[in-house]
Amino acid sequence: MPDYMFLLESRLSPEQRAAMLRVQELAAVLGFNVYLTGGTVRDLITGANLRDLDFTVEGNPSKMARELEKGGAKVLSEDEKLRHVELLFAGDVEGSISAARDEHYVRPGTRPEIRWSTIMEDLRRRDFSLNAIAISLNPASRGLLLDPTNGLSDIEHGEVRALSIHSFTNQPVRLLRALRLAARMGFKLESRTQEWFNLAIERELQLTITPEDAGEEVRSLSREERPQLILKEWEGGDLLELVHPILAKKHPGYDAINRLIKVRDDLYMAGFRPRLATPMLLAIFGRLKDRELSNTLSKLGYRSAEIEAIEKFPEKAMEIQKELAGKKTKTPIDAYRYIEKIPMEYVAYLLAESSNSAALSKLKAFLHKWRPVRQALPIVATELEALGMPRGPKFDQIVQDVFAIQLNGRAKTPEERVKILRKLSGIKEPPKKKEKEKKPAKAEKHVETAAEKKAAAVEKHATHERHKAGMKAAAAKHKSKK
Ligand code: ATP
Ligand code: MG
Repeated sequence: MPDYMFLLESRLSPEQRAAMLRVQELAAVLGFNVYLTGGTVRDLITGANLRDLDFTVEGNPSKMARELEKGGAKVLSEDEKLRHVELLFAGDVEGSISAARDEHYVRPGTRPEIRWSTIMEDLRRRDFSLNAIAISLNPASRGLLLDPTNGLSDIEHGEVRALSIHSFTNQPVRLLRALRLAARMGFKLESRTQEWFNLAIERELQLTITPEDAGEEVRSLSREERPQLILKEWEGGDLLELVHPILAKKHPGYDAINRLIKVRDDLYMAGFRPRLATPMLLAIFGRLKDRELSNTLSKLGYRSAEIEAIEKFPEKAMEIQKELAGKKTKTPIDAYRYIEKIPMEYVAYLLAESSNSAALSKLKAFLHKWRPVRQALPIVATELEALGMPRGPKFDQIVQDVFAIQLNGRAKTPEERVKILRKLSGIKEPPKKKEKEKKPAKAEKHVETAAEKKAAAVEKHATHERHKAGMKAAAAKHKSKK
């Protein structure tokens, strides 16, 4: 068995690791067993990006949430009935903590009764085997993999396997989930799951998906790496209707999605990992009129504040574009300072959608020219320190001034920089004449003893002899070649 703890620790960002350790610690203090579960474990095993950390505890997570809040984590939402908390840990780490639960369906398709349970029962009630794997974070079994439904083997075979014949009947939204997971991972539905899927469609169970459940799927879709693949699957299976008939009729904005994905890849290369849910949502629904969009989102269970933020997004982006094309951002340093403060999702949106060349060229310069210069700024600080300038406010100001000069395309070489640094700091160059410089050094030099003089003469003679021999050998070689 691979060492899952090692795999996990090597794949987590330092911030994610800190969040995991904190949850682990708290669970130990409160006496709960805690596990990493769901998408986190699946993504860990398949080598996909670890977007968020899903924890499951055998106990009530609300106490943990309170403690985590004290440590600076933000509770994004809390469902007390389901005992599920969505969190934002320090360092922007997304995660959730749920109580382990079992779901009991009196009849297939009815609302389930919930019972608090052990982790094993919790795993078995999940949707697909690849989502039903856990890693223990408990002291005695840290790193142990719990895989009661054999999900690991399904991952190896590239299959999405539902865990019960009633899976789609119990929760028809799993029809959308199954296709989303398969498309995202490049998997197919396992043969029996495919049969159950077809049967569910025959019985038109898809029509019973609640708009709120469909809305959750749309939310997940907008956070996907390649939503176009999923949309095509949903469209192919006539499931897009469920998200909204207008979307099905007008089709998703595939071109806009592709443009945004290209920009996102570019941003990744420049070292940014922006959240693009809002611009992605706008791209997906790009062919809908404003009114149609807000009606659709409202039907899908988006809160009115969320809808307003989504609707205002393009307007806000246009304001930014105007600033970027205006006087206030004329010099590179002013443009840099302005762009640095814009949330990256607006940068991404403008790069994908704007046709304003002034704004675009500044955004591109920011990513590909100015940011690398900013990242190399510690070198300038080191150079200034080497000149003998003590650190402090004046020091920082000079470094910033050099940065502004660099953005104008100057001060690229170390020589040029040292000149500018001297000028800005007022630290003069030491006197130029080398002989003069050497004189005091000579005075310090000790007087050679007779033995040292002799040794030096011998060495000089030897060097001369070696040189002569070398010349002879070269001449001989030259002759023989002839
Ligand atoms: P993502 O990477 O999109 O977050 P995820 O698998 O983590 O994928 P979530 O919606 O965060 O998806 O759900 C977390 C876990 O909860 C899933 O991995 C799965 O085990 C379980 N789950 C989610 N929705 C359902 C459902 N409808 N039925 C059963 N289990 C579900
Ligand atoms: Mg998740």
